Amino acid sequence: MNSLVEFKHLYFAANSTEAHLIKGLLESDGISTILFGEDLSIGVGELPVDVLQVGIKVDKKKHVKALEIISNYEKNNEINDKKHIWTCTNCNSINPKNFEICWSCQTES
Ligand SMILES: [Zn+2]
Repeated sequence: MNSLVEFKHLYFAANSTEAHLIKGLLESDGISTILFGEDLSIGVGELPVDVLQVGIKVDKKKHVKALEIISNYEKNNEINDKKHIWTCTNCNSINPKNFEICWSCQTES
């Protein structure tokens, strides 16, 4: 790893859990990632930890690629949150999220 990597701000995650999830996504694509702001939870005490946003910085050279990953991540989040559906990989039927097998062809989700 090049020690001269420059980091550029990418995103604010809603909480530490999300930050680590995104870090995992980015690093699986070979993008160096650092989190900041997590330490703020120490000493704040009265605030729930998940109120605190965690900043994510990535290798400046990979910033554009990282933005694409974030954009896909947000799209998936929206689909999952708003529609509560999944699409069958076998027959392309739309299923409610709580169906574990496709109503049409019985393929597992
Ligand atoms: Zn199906």
